Amino acid sequence: MTIENNLNKINASLPDGVKLVAVSKTKSNEEIMEAYRTGQLIFGENKVQELVRKWESLPKDIEWHFIGHLQSNKVRMIAPFVAMIHSVDSLKILKTINNEAKHAGRVIPCLLQFHIASEESKFGFSYEEAVQLLTTLKSSDIENVIIAGVMGMATFTDDVELIRKEFSTLHEIFQNLKDVFFRGNDNFREISMGMSSDYLYAIESGSTMVRIGSTIFGERNLIAH
Ligand SMILES: *Cc1c(COP(=O)(O)O)cnc(C)c1O
Repeated sequence: MTIENNLNKINASLPDGVKLVAVSKTKSNEEIMEAYRTGQLIFGENKVQELVRKWESLPKDIEWHFIGHLQSNKVRMIAPFVAMIHSVDSLKILKTINNEAKHAGRVIPCLLQFHIASEESKFGFSYEEAVQLLTTLKSSDIENVIIAGVMGMATFTDDVELIRKEFSTLHEIFQNLKDVFFRGNDNFREISMGMSSDYLYAIESGSTMVRIGSTIFGERNLIAH
């Protein structure tokens, strides 16, 4: 299968209103260009240096989404161009993004990442922590970010019922936050969930953005290009 075939197949399976983030981490510029030439413009990366390198050398109409754990001291490197940050998991990183966006003269859309998996290692807020954050946040704290929705990763498992339960939890979190903090605010609208192995379940649970890598590009190279 070629990258083009894979993309066509995935796009045919996505309902209207579900955006595809092509996760290109570890993939070469040539592979990304192959996807780009089919019309794919949204790409996701999880390492700051790799993202900056690709942004510098690839077409400027690509929308780069940052999907990995982000360290405060690296935000400045991506603030001038990043189109969305999916992985806001603390007040500290949100404030840093706001400051760096201001410095770059931009407003950066961000998603709050939630810990929905039963695995220990994943980053993200609990619902209570997010409520706490949104309650204490002043709008003057975040004039250069838009809180555009939520993101989460399900447990890596064959247990489909567990995956479905976790995605529906994230949908519920989104809906509750919308009702309490973002009623009538159209900026808060994205639910970023679903990867290669589980995106069809994520869509059933209301995903608006799927982040798909290996089903498009094949298994990941161990060493980044
Ligand atoms: C790598 C990655 C993906 C894509 O994973 P695939 O299984 O290759 O589709 C999606 N989201 C995040 C946060 C990732 O790090």
